Amino acid sequence: MKKYNTIIIGSGHNGLVCASYLAKAGQKVLILEASENYGGLARSRTFFPGYKANTASALNHFSEKISSDLNLSSFGFNHSNTYLDNIGLHIDQNHVLVKKDEVQGVGEKDIQSYKNYVALLKKFSERLKPFWTKSIPRLSNENFKDMMTFLQIGLRLRMMGKEDMREFLRVFSLPTRDLMDEFFESPLLKATLSWDALIGSSQAPRSPNNSILTMLYRMSGMHNGHFYIPEGGMDSLVNALVKCATTSGVELQSNTKVKQIIIDKGEDKLRASAIVTDKDEQISADRIISAVDPKQTFISLVGTKYLEIEFSNRINRLRSHGYVAKLNLALSDEPSFSGLKSAHGRLIIASDMDKIEFAWDDAKYGQFSQEPVLEMIVPSLYSPSLAPEGKHVLSANVMYVPCHKENGWSETDKSDLKEKIINQIALYAPSIKGQILHAELMTPKDLESEYNLTGGHWHHGELALDQMLMMRPTYEAAQYRTPIDGLFLCSAGCHPGGGLMGAAGFNASQEILK
Ligand SMILES: Cc1cc2nc3c(=O)[nH]c(=O)nc-3n(C[C@H](O)[C@H](O)[C@H](O)COP(=O)(O)OP(=O)(O)OC[C@H]3O[C@@H](n4cnc5c(N)ncnc54)[C@H](O)[C@@H]3O)c2cc1C
Repeated sequence: MKKYNTIIIGSGHNGLVCASYLAKAGQKVLILEASENYGGLARSRTFFPGYKANTASALNHFSEKISSDLNLSSFGFNHSNTYLDNIGLHIDQNHVLVKKDEVQGVGEKDIQSYKNYVALLKKFSERLKPFWTKSIPRLSNENFKDMMTFLQIGLRLRMMGKEDMREFLRVFSLPTRDLMDEFFESPLLKATLSWDALIGSSQAPRSPNNSILTMLYRMSGMHNGHFYIPEGGMDSLVNALVKCATTSGVELQSNTKVKQIIIDKGEDKLRASAIVTDKDEQISADRIISAVDPKQTFISLVGTKYLEIEFSNRINRLRSHGYVAKLNLALSDEPSFSGLKSAHGRLIIASDMDKIEFAWDDAKYGQFSQEPVLEMIVPSLYSPSLAPEGKHVLSANVMYVPCHKENGWSETDKSDLKEKIINQIALYAPSIKGQILHAELMTPKDLESEYNLTGGHWHHGELALDQMLMMRPTYEAAQYRTPIDGLFLCSAGCHPGGGLMGAAGFNASQEILK
């Protein structure tokens, strides 16, 4: 029987990154993937004959360190400097245009305030940047290196100067709405800018505590939080990661769902020694790394009988209900939005922060909104191979759509919601209904089954203060190690969190190679 140093469960971008680092260090690595294709949420899938879409449809903070360490450009992945402008759509065509360093379509006061706002958030996010690609030690650890990490965190904040540090501490925990009200007048600009603090979370503009921190998290990459589609499309990232892994000697096996992690009971310790696939094949390795979400890992694959009661309670309590649905439209030609020359950019439908708040209010009680708020891109404008020649794909992230709808999701609910979303879009693109050849709506519940992802959650678990840093996913399973020897984690459910960044995969590999 073949024996591996490491088996990685799941081929999302984090699993692929982790695998490459380990294989380059000489390990024999096997990745097992449940789906037909590799890449997790970043991969494209055909949703209508001839039409493809990636669920994660744009990048904004994929790590430049990882691209350079793994030489991803030699495998066809290149960052792009062409950013997607954020466009807040206005029903009377008074759209707001948010570019990387300037804003248009608002009053002079907001134009000036935007410069100050960007400068402030850039300064703060720069301070946080080094900590995303580091393990955050346990508070109780007394070893020198761990103490140094805490010291560095404190020092980086302190080096901002007393006033900036105080301001940082005040700002990062503000509700988004308060920060927007402090800086801006235009309701549409406020809603457009608050979008990136909220997307993928169960937070709305008035939610207290940490949505600004989530915004800073997104802003801390080389692109300052601005989205782009890499040259060659999103698939160029997945393809490069797969090529890099296989060139480094990693074996990949698709259509293989892991159904169990085998735990051996030693005298005083538990140890993960093998996995069992859905074809009842048992494969053993020195270590198992789970690149799937923490709830699935511990509750389904390990089983609570192997877990301390307090730990399994913590895992069960993790907030991992997703609230983002995906709508993909196959279009006969390029959609036309009133008042815009083209459909390029990231188009946001949320006229003010109350509209976002009200949509969340419905979702809190297990309903979808009658007036959904959403962001759209037309990825085929950047990657023509996603659609037949001359035709287009529109891909939208719709907030807030509950994974667990009251009384469950029926086909009628889904077509009702789909119609509501398309009606919303048609307010701004009046001819769109006549262009739709096919519409696919994936609620978080559908994302859960398509991607084997508990709750269909963007970050594999809420990115909130109590589920961040050395508490992500839980205190006992942070630092990528778990209470079970030989079992590690490396997905978005670990520090620093989700979005296509690769940091969790990288950090886990470094922890294992220590
Ligand atoms: C609707 C939506 C839109 C998003 N859009 C963006 C975006 O535009 N930009 C961005 O940066 N981020 C986006 N995100 C977030 C981003 O996609 C995720 O945070 C990221 O994909 C997590 O990566 P990962 O490698 O940790 O896991 P995943 O991408 O979830 O990959 C996990 C892999 O493990 C496999 N797997 C699961 N269980 C098993 C099992 N038992 N056995 C074998 N294989 C298994 C899955 O099939 C999957 O391939 C979006 C998320 C959602 C839900």
